[in-house]
Amino acid sequence: MSLSLNRSRELQQRAEALIPGGVDSPVRAFRSVGGDPPFVERAEGAYLFDADGNRYIDYFGSWGPMILGHAEPKVTAAVQAAATKGTSFGASTAAEAELAAMVMQCVPSIEKLRFVSSGTEAVMSAIRVARAFTHRNRILKFEGCYHGHSDALLVKAGSGVATLGIPGSAGIPMETTQFTTAIRYNDLAEVEAVFAKHPGEIACVILEPVVGNAGTILPQPDFLEGLREICTREGTLLIFDEVMTGFRVSLGGVQSLYGITPDLTTLGKIIGGGLPVGAFGGRAEIMNLLAPLGPVYQAGTLSGNPLAMAAGIATLRQLIDGGDALYDQLAEITSLVAHGVAREAKKAGVDLWVAGTGSMFTWFFQQGPVRNFEDASKSDTGRFGKFHRGMLERGVWLPPSQFEAAFVSLQHGEVEVEATIAAARDVFASL
Ligand code: PMP
Repeated sequence: MSLSLNRSRELQQRAEALIPGGVDSPVRAFRSVGGDPPFVERAEGAYLFDADGNRYIDYFGSWGPMILGHAEPKVTAAVQAAATKGTSFGASTAAEAELAAMVMQCVPSIEKLRFVSSGTEAVMSAIRVARAFTHRNRILKFEGCYHGHSDALLVKAGSGVATLGIPGSAGIPMETTQFTTAIRYNDLAEVEAVFAKHPGEIACVILEPVVGNAGTILPQPDFLEGLREICTREGTLLIFDEVMTGFRVSLGGVQSLYGITPDLTTLGKIIGGGLPVGAFGGRAEIMNLLAPLGPVYQAGTLSGNPLAMAAGIATLRQLIDGGDALYDQLAEITSLVAHGVAREAKKAGVDLWVAGTGSMFTWFFQQGPVRNFEDASKSDTGRFGKFHRGMLERGVWLPPSQFEAAFVSLQHGEVEVEATIAAARDVFASL
């Protein structure tokens, strides 16, 4: 099988001369799976179309936002209507409170929130307000959880050195991460040990309550509950980073699925309907520390941007109207494709562990189980790379890394599921 990517290759070469790696976000360069990355020209429904005229079933959905599918007519119309009234004012609009109210209707733990322009900013700001509220510095995170690329949170995942707070990127001073402790996900004993070692020092525990950024990893039954209890006991704030899971696994996110109330929540992706948006929010007494009410500074030229608010409102309105039936449909289609491909793997003798919830999932190339980042790392990434390329050549575009979640949209249906399973059957035969 060969895929003609001549035009994409030219575009990539041009971009590489101008932009590091030719990309504005590293994973887009396909380095971990190899091969040329297609350049996207347009998208519609469940499909991406590249510069060479190839069509792909999209399973990464802009890394999460596109739950309604691409170029969804009502979202497009809302953005167009907003654009004709002006693209940015740097002054308040009614749309901000409108979207905030929709978010809070679905996520009742959020009593107040503020919009920013990315998930990174949302988390960075939530950490700042948590530190100010508790008058403490240390943050506890988990290996394999990604919370954006701000300095204090880019602490290397994996192995014992992670607990020492060694930065996971060049250009981050040790001093900046000295208050970050990273430990194993799903392990309450390790959490207790960190609290015992740093009594009265931990401002917040932050996690992806369902992990997407190490591939999909579900919390074990008592993990979230245990964290809630420990945080309450220790006067530490519990922050759920639901940038990926918010409005993805259910209208109310992981917190509503599992019935756990965090102190602060971060959101992004879906609430912006594909435009740049993030948000952080939670208990009013914490959020009221933000300027201009309180001493915590936080700001943004384009925060609450009218186009982004319009896209978010048009997206959430459809999700709220669709309710449980919509989320059931998403889960059903996702289960069909996730398990359908797994069945083909089994027939072909390929080890594949499927993990997922709602419309996010991962095919780990290993026997499983995957309970934490260390487990995820045992996957055969070479085999995943070949699978990824084989699928791409057959018109199926998966996230180009083993350690990412795949997403299904409302526009994915049985036709796409069948085509995906058929492609996988073909690829497994050649692995
Ligand atoms: N938190 C989580 C859980 C994420 O998945 C991401 C992005 N994948 C971020 C934070 C950062 O968001 P952004 O890329 O919008 O800065």
